[in-house]
Amino acid sequence: MEFKLKKNNAIEVKKLIKTYGDVYALNDVDLNISDGEYFVLLGPSGGGKTTLLRSIGGFIRPDSGSVVIKGKNVNNLPPDKRPTSMVFQGFALFPHMDVAQNIGYGLKLQSIEKNIIDEKVNKMMDLVGLTGLHNRKPHELSGGQQQRVQLARALILENDVLLLDEPLSALDAQLRKDMCIELKRLQKTVGISFVHVTHNQEEAMSVADRIAIIADGKMIEEGTPQEIYNKPKKQFTAEFLGEKNILIGKVHNLNKSKIVLDINNDKIEIANNNYNVSKNQEVSVSIKSESIQIKKNVKSKTNEKNSIFGKVSEITFLGQFVRYLVLLSNDQEIQVRSSEEVANVKLNDQVILNWKLDDFILHNE
Ligand code: ADP
Ligand code: MG
Repeated sequence: MEFKLKKNNAIEVKKLIKTYGDVYALNDVDLNISDGEYFVLLGPSGGGKTTLLRSIGGFIRPDSGSVVIKGKNVNNLPPDKRPTSMVFQGFALFPHMDVAQNIGYGLKLQSIEKNIIDEKVNKMMDLVGLTGLHNRKPHELSGGQQQRVQLARALILENDVLLLDEPLSALDAQLRKDMCIELKRLQKTVGISFVHVTHNQEEAMSVADRIAIIADGKMIEEGTPQEIYNKPKKQFTAEFLGEKNILIGKVHNLNKSKIVLDINNDKIEIANNNYNVSKNQEVSVSIKSESIQIKKNVKSKTNEKNSIFGKVSEITFLGQFVRYLVLLSNDQEIQVRSSEEVANVKLNDQVILNWKLDDFILHNE
């Protein structure tokens, strides 16, 4: 017999509220993060991510609610008494200290013996890829190297949780991609929980074991990168992740396996994946542009319900694929992404769009 071991929670956030005047920076947030998990808080600017991270680290005192780390309520503990280390937004290295001194600083404060500090600094520098750069000053380092010093400085404290606030935002796009791979590798090597705040969805997808979408001080939804990208439960998540094909409609009819929707005057059919909806309810649905097939329409009527008519309003060749914009009868535009040009589909042509029943996702909110 096989038992699935339940992972212990490293962090439990319960009913956290933090207000500034009449702004709810955090509005009743619940969150569980497992031991050894790479967790990302993703959402638009001003959504409450930094407030949540700093509340976990002890830099902000919430109005109400609790933060439990490793089974212990830390509400009344200052940052340095919590089992957390924090990498702050922007580079905050001591400019007059060299790399080794910057990394060892936290241990020096704890009056740890110099040879032990040196040994740990060396180990950390190898771990984050700074071997041999002991004597460099921060201004003699690239942005990526400065960020590694910050990471080493936080990790050397050997806490249970590393908190990172927009750790890559000062880096250019290519470096950010490389650092994502390194951060993930680093997290798996040290094995502690990372909580990483970003507004960048690509960054989130590439590092996270799990992602929580945070906006307006609220937890919108959470899941693995695959879950929130492929099957977002909320319309907000779909839009935030760049989904263009969102249609608003009404439930016309439904049974256990299928839902028929009224989209303006068109009826479309989608699979009913246990959606909690009823007849006449207004809903939004979305579909990935690569999940739609486009073909020239030669009929004026169709019996296929998993299809809709439209007119090609734009064709753009984008190297690896061709993008078609198709105008529906309700004036909404649908994007279709095809790996190659579709023979005889030209600008202004009447077309028919098809999909597999499972490809439309319904959003409850
Ligand atoms: P994020 O990190 O997601 O961009 P923040 O947690 O920084 O968001 O901010 C959440 C909300 O709280 C925003 O509306 C922000 O303006 C407000 N806020 C954050 N810190 C303060 C503060 N010290 N004083 C007043 N308002 C604040
Ligand atoms: Mg922030």
